[in-house]
Amino acid sequence: MLYTHKQINERLTQAEHLWLFLDYDGTLADFAPTPEHVNPDPEIIDLLTGLAHHARIRIAVISGRRLNHVQALVPVPDVLLAGTYGVEMQIPDGKRVNRVDYDAIRPALDILKPRWAHLIANREGFFLEDKGWALALHARFADDFETDVVLSAARRMATKVASSGLFRVLSGHKFLEVAPSLADKGQTVGYLLDRYPWPGALPIYLGDDDKDEEAFSVIKARGGIAILVAGEQRKTKADCQLESPQAARRWLGTALARSAVNSTRRSWEPL
Ligand SMILES: [Mg+2]
Repeated sequence: MLYTHKQINERLTQAEHLWLFLDYDGTLADFAPTPEHVNPDPEIIDLLTGLAHHARIRIAVISGRRLNHVQALVPVPDVLLAGTYGVEMQIPDGKRVNRVDYDAIRPALDILKPRWAHLIANREGFFLEDKGWALALHARFADDFETDVVLSAARRMATKVASSGLFRVLSGHKFLEVAPSLADKGQTVGYLLDRYPWPGALPIYLGDDDKDEEAFSVIKARGGIAILVAGEQRKTKADCQLESPQAARRWLGTALARSAVNSTRRSWEPL
């Protein structure tokens, strides 16, 4: 860890603007029981609404969930929403940006989907999620031995189908996903910083898992601050750590309170 909270707060106070990049699940909110759970949290909506109203703050929410779920969870104007790790985005001016050609990637997913569906048929605790741009296999409620067997087989199928270079295979705890190779939070952060430049802004990224670690490197290389949200100590590229989504929300509330009033209205003019 490179910074103390005091040092980070000093950098926040000194910065002209703050650009917050926020993961959702495990960072702002506790984990939902299944990815189909899309219950907006009023406390998070209030917090983001307050932050988004602030002329000195710009917000992007970057999630692995599909964009329409992110939109349902964060119905807050003036926030950039990025779904499927940034493959599909809703820009605050109302424009939708798809960074990958859907028709180019969908045929391979349509081959893989019935194979994965067959693999988990009649097995307890598995869940196949079709995000449109990506396919994810969740094993959160399956037993450990069966999870290993099924996810290994699923990975072999995925590697075969995804061998074109158009895709990457993402894994996690009891989780496997085939997504476009641009489904990378690090690449997404780089894209947004280049596409919507904001001179004088300090970029800050809050995230909780290995997909966020990919963004931590980019944020730090761009002179920003990476904050890990996790209850336990682990190997990380982050500059500091907050212990829970509740702690992350409190910290963001403090960032809001700290931000001095600035009359310059920010905009999302692309280059
Ligand atoms: Mg997360």
